[in-house]
Amino acid sequence: MEQELFDLVYRAVVNRDAAYDGLYYTGVRTTGIVCRPSCRARTPKPDNVTFYPSLEEALQAGFRPCKRCRPEEGGTLRPDAVLAAQADAVIAAEYGRRLTLPELAKRLKISPSHLHRVYKAVTGVTPAAALEQVRLARARELLRDSGRPVSEIGRAVGLRGASHFAAWFQRHEGVSPTAYREQHQGGIADERECNVPAHP
Ligand SMILES: [Zn+2]
Repeated sequence: MEQELFDLVYRAVVNRDAAYDGLYYTGVRTTGIVCRPSCRARTPKPDNVTFYPSLEEALQAGFRPCKRCRPEEGGTLRPDAVLAAQADAVIAAEYGRRLTLPELAKRLKISPSHLHRVYKAVTGVTPAAALEQVRLARARELLRDSGRPVSEIGRAVGLRGASHFAAWFQRHEGVSPTAYREQHQGGIADERECNVPAHP
């Protein structure tokens, strides 16, 4: 497991946060017990912890289920909504990178097809569509509210190359980034003119 992901899940253990329950299982090597990440028992030291992506793997490695948090029970109820929420969190943090479905799935330690199916079932849209929406919203915001060059805005939302960004924006919004910016800034100017008393 990557250190970054370990830290994320271990933080949930420290905070007794249930966000990773059903996604990872905490094997505590000093006690030989496997727990849900949210278990209320004493927090194990990170050096003594191994996270398993399934309870089966933890059991095969010789761990016994905790009698307190009972990781073997109700493990199938939460994961779908949790997974979708975690995908949203990764998208929100990473939309500026070249984030692909396989990469997103890798971050969540599941297969791309499973992610696609679960995410769509929970949210009604595909993860790719959700990523596009986040990028578009951010691009519109930057075009309206910042003076940053169009190519820079493209990079900021994960689309390199000004023409690539312009074509993508046009395809979704029906106008070019430059036209969108002009339309909006024109709107502000018109409003301002209306509020200024007319000169004699
Ligand atoms: Zn436990």
